[in-house]
Amino acid sequence: MTYKKKEIYNDELTKSLSERYEYIISSIGEDVSREGLAKTPERAAKAIQYLTQGYELDAGAILQSALFKEDYTEMVIVKDIELYSLCEHHILPFYGKAHIAYIPNGYVVGLSKIPRIVDVFARRLQVQERLTHEILEALDKYLKPHGVAVVIEAAHMCMMMRGVQKQNSVTTTSAFTGEFKIDETRNEFLSLISAKLK
Ligand SMILES: [Zn+2]
Repeated sequence: MTYKKKEIYNDELTKSLSERYEYIISSIGEDVSREGLAKTPERAAKAIQYLTQGYELDAGAILQSALFKEDYTEMVIVKDIELYSLCEHHILPFYGKAHIAYIPNGYVVGLSKIPRIVDVFARRLQVQERLTHEILEALDKYLKPHGVAVVIEAAHMCMMMRGVQKQNSVTTTSAFTGEFKIDETRNEFLSLISAKLK
């Protein structure tokens, strides 16, 4: 199966979002006609489409485009995957790293596809816990491996900028299936990524 990236910007949507951003900017007391803000509604309209492009992406198509038959049955780990998402409560960024592992069961997936799967679900309005589970479930469903492990550590701007929590505090979430539910396997994975965990 081939996979084609969809065009991110939709002209009609950009126009309607721009009008709404213009309304928001003037509602907070700004002058939308001043030079620095003249193109801001359109830029913001494009930015929000870019940051939520995950709704247009299909995790199954991405993974199935790069599945290879392989007898390898050791743990495959991709760590320190950059992650940028938007919290669904405040539409403010949360960002950090994802560490993902799976134990192949007849098939391996091209390694570049794992970060793409992170983007499929991160580029939406999210909560970190659901993001963790959605990545896990997609890998479990399409790779049918012996197990999947997902750990995400992220800083939330909605907490940091609003002073709810101390600066630099990081939230860690994790989810495991299959063999990663066995202590020994899970601990091996955690120790392999732990140098990076806070
Ligand atoms: Zn928030």
